[in-house]
Amino acid sequence: MDCLFCKIVEGKIPAKKIYEDEQVIAFHDINPHAPVHFLVIPKTHIATLADMAEDDRALVGHMIYTGQRLAKELGCEEGFRTVFNCNAQGGQTVYHIHLHVLGQRQMSWPPG
Ligand code: C5P
Repeated sequence: MDCLFCKIVEGKIPAKKIYEDEQVIAFHDINPHAPVHFLVIPKTHIATLADMAEDDRALVGHMIYTGQRLAKELGCEEGFRTVFNCNAQGGQTVYHIHLHVLGQRQMSWPPG
């Protein structure tokens, strides 16, 4: 399978890692849209959020828990934005689920 984020998990493509455990990796987004912008990805391949199975609930919960914990560690105590883009219409470009965490600037709503 030719998956960019699986290659990051395998260490075949470099990433600026912030955190890693047995289930997830967090790394700075290569094209940041905020002073803090990092991604939390599972080590197992799930293509889109719509492919999430019932058995993946704890894993996705761990992604969100990790995202909020790292956001606070990276100075986003005032607030932050979390996003899962899902499929083409949702703006997804890499088909391995990832939680975007953005912070340290004022966010607006609605998103584009
Ligand atoms: O949600 P979406 O699929 O559009 O986001 C993919 C994200 O992955 C982008 O923000 C892009 O900058 C990031 N990326 C990255 N490192 C790569 C390739 C993509 O951080 N090697």
